[in-house]
Amino acid sequence: MNLARILYPVNVLGPGRRIGLWLCGCSRGCKGCSNPELWEQRPEYEIEIDKVLYLIKKISDTNKVDGFTITGGEPMDQAKDVAALLKQIRIISEDILIYTGYQLSELKTRNDIWTNSIIYDAAVLIDGAYVEDQNDGSVLRGSSNQQIHILNDKLGDRYQNYLSDAHNQIQNFTTKDGIISVGIHHPTF
Ligand code: SF4
Repeated sequence: MNLARILYPVNVLGPGRRIGLWLCGCSRGCKGCSNPELWEQRPEYEIEIDKVLYLIKKISDTNKVDGFTITGGEPMDQAKDVAALLKQIRIISEDILIYTGYQLSELKTRNDIWTNSIIYDAAVLIDGAYVEDQNDGSVLRGSSNQQIHILNDKLGDRYQNYLSDAHNQIQNFTTKDGIISVGIHHPTF
C-alpha cells in the first residue's frame, strides 16, 4: 500500500488515543485540501501490509490504543489493501474511523468485495469531498457537507457522546521531516 505516515497518539480525530494512518494518493483536488502533499503516490511510501501491521503491533504492545483513524489522501482508492488491513487491526480495536471523499451511497454502488469489506469492518465513515466554503467548525468534519455514518451500532453511544462534547482541536507532531499538524483546521490555516 502507499502509506505516507502513521502517527500515535492521535487525540483529535475521534475518541481516545488513536493510531492515525495517512494513505497517499487522491485525484479529487479539493480547493483548500489540508493534505495536498498526499495527492501524488510516491514510490518511497510503498509498504507491505505485513510491515504496517508490524509497526501497529509495536505501538499497541506497549500503549493503549482506543481506535484507528484512516485518512489521506483517499483510502478508498486503495480498497483492496485497506480491506486487508482492517481485518487485522479490528482485532486490536473495532473503533475504525475512515475519511473518504466518496459518498457512502457511491461506494455501495461499486459492488466490489474490497469496498464492501471496508464498509463492513469500519465503525465510522465520514464521507464527501472537502468544500472550503462549508468549513464551519463541525466536529470531526472538514466541511459540513460531509456526513458521519456510524456503521457499527456497538460504538453508537461512544460516538454520540463524543460528538456532543467534543470540539475540533489541532495536534502537532514533530517528526524527523518536520512538524505535521493534525486535526480539522480552520480554512484560514
Ligand atoms: S478528497 Fe480529501 S485528500 Fe482528496 S483532495 Fe479532497 S480533501 Fe484532499
